[in-house]
This record gives sequence, C-alpha cells and structure tokens, in this order.
Amino acid sequence: MLFVGWGKKGKEIAYAGIEKCPHCRNWTHFAIFETTKRVTLYFVPVASWDKKAYLVCGTCETAWELEPSAVSKTLADSAQLPPREQAEAIWRDLDVELLAAAEAHPGDTDAVYRLTMDRLYAKHPRQWADYVAGRRFAAFADTNPPG
Ligand SMILES: [Zn+2]
Repeated sequence: MLFVGWGKKGKEIAYAGIEKCPHCRNWTHFAIFETTKRVTLYFVPVASWDKKAYLVCGTCETAWELEPSAVSKTLADSAQLPPREQAEAIWRDLDVELLAAAEAHPGDTDAVYRLTMDRLYAKHPRQWADYVAGRRFAAFADTNPPG
C-alpha cells in the first residue's frame, strides 16, 4: 500500500471495518473509496480512466492506495462485515454492557466478559458482535493509543 495525499474526492464504495490507523493511531472505522479521472461533455460523462481504490481512515482521513490486485479481496472481505451503522451501534453497546457487567460482577472478569457478550448476542447477530468485540478488546489491549 502506498501513502497518498487526500482531498475529499472520490466515492465510498464499501465499509472496511474497524482497524487501528497507522497514522492517527485511533481504532476507527475504515472505508474503501474509489477515484476515477473523468471527461464530461455538456455534463455527460464520456470517458473515465485511471480508476484507483483507497483505504481511508474515518478519523483523520488519511488514505492508502490499494494495489489493483488487492482490491477484489478487500471488497470480498468487506462483504463479511456488519454495515457501518451496526458496527458503530455494537461498539457503543459493548462499552455500556461492559460497565453494567463490571458493576454486577466486580473483580470477576470471566463473568463480566460472558455477561457482556450474552447481552450483545441478544441484540445483534452473533458473528457481527464477535467481530466488533474482537476489535474493541484489541483496542483495550493496545499499548500505544493515540497521543
Ligand atoms: Zn487516522
């Protein structure tokens, strides 16, 4: 991947899940954007070329160009993810449920984890809850958070 400058152009073509941004170091939602050079004639697009895809940080908007050979795999991977709104909701719910479970079972981390996940599974599809929880716990364990 190649680091590129980025003005807010291009269009979002897919949600790319929750990752730690190598630039701003936030755990945040990434998206895949596509840019195309275009010629229009009387506002009608007549030619387009030089299509490029980028992975873009949802917090600092830094973009990394995807190798053309990696685009289809990245898009296929993104199809397995929850929609962004659902990922955001699960991320928020997890923090709320974790606090409630910690109050109910002080000091018992296994019980806190089980209760938190049970509450998430009751509200969200299991594989999506597992995905977001995995990213959230990785963020909790991150020893180099945003400065
Ligand atoms: Zn960032």
